[in-house]
Amino acid sequence: MADLRSPHQGPLKWNANVANEREAIGSIVPGIPPFAPGHVWLAGAGPGDPGLLTIYALEGLRSADVIVHDALVGQRALGLAGPQARLEFAGKRGGKPSAVQADISNRLIELAKAGCRVLRLKGGDPCVFGRGGEEAMALAAAGVPFRIIPGVTAGLAALAAASIPATMREVNRAIILAAGHGGEDDSFDWGPLARSGEPMVLYMVLHNLERIAAALIKAGRKPETPAAVIAAATTGQERVLVSTLDRVARAAREHAFEPPAVVVVGEIVAMRNRLIRDLLADEAAIRKPR
Ligand code: SAH
Repeated sequence: MADLRSPHQGPLKWNANVANEREAIGSIVPGIPPFAPGHVWLAGAGPGDPGLLTIYALEGLRSADVIVHDALVGQRALGLAGPQARLEFAGKRGGKPSAVQADISNRLIELAKAGCRVLRLKGGDPCVFGRGGEEAMALAAAGVPFRIIPGVTAGLAALAAASIPATMREVNRAIILAAGHGGEDDSFDWGPLARSGEPMVLYMVLHNLERIAAALIKAGRKPETPAAVIAAATTGQERVLVSTLDRVARAAREHAFEPPAVVVVGEIVAMRNRLIRDLLADEAAIRKPR
């Protein structure tokens, strides 16, 4: 029997029944849910700027007993934790083996079973290239109540920060979020994504950019397609580079771009110049002495 409580009325135990209509209606009931002892919140902290945390994530930071966080969660967000909160680092960078992932899931289960309010805080959105799904599965299998709190994913935040609209009616009607990790033997077929012609935002791609850009061109993307690299978006270290698909990997290397960065490929990148030009013109007009 499906649990018909709204997700906003309290953490739901994982339930094999798909949402039915009554659940869907119930889910619009607003209000911050209680963060009960023994529960886990799997939350996203957004791309870096604490202003982009959700109110739920902030509530989690303030009321958690333990915060298990990733490397990508900024110090400024962690600084909003309540005085009782203990911080535990569970960083995994560069795709270490999955044994580490199992350790993290087991730690969450252990803390919850010990009666802690556990905030599992990840960069961006917990379930966009963040292993939130795997952790949720492990919690469900262990019978630990949890809820998933979305966050502003870095790919979309980086576009906004760089004045690149994610969609424009006359330019695109889809946007692809893809992970560019994977070594030399990566068998991922970029052809279908490339041939769709829709813009792509690539996460974890800097190390493979040369190879992936070449694969996209080989599959039919024009070499002169606009491409941008956006590093450390929404933080004090934010940097943006605008180039073209055939040159972007070299340019990123020459300008010493480092992770975390996303690469966006597509005509939407060209909108940036127009937007920035207009923004600068506006600013100049405002500042102009009369
Ligand atoms: N769950 C995260 C993504 C984790 S994968 C999310 O939804 O955003 C890690 C990758 O995210 C990095 O390699 C980089 O591609 C991207 N990323 C995270 N923070 C970023 C930032 N502030 N600026 C640019 N890219 C970022």
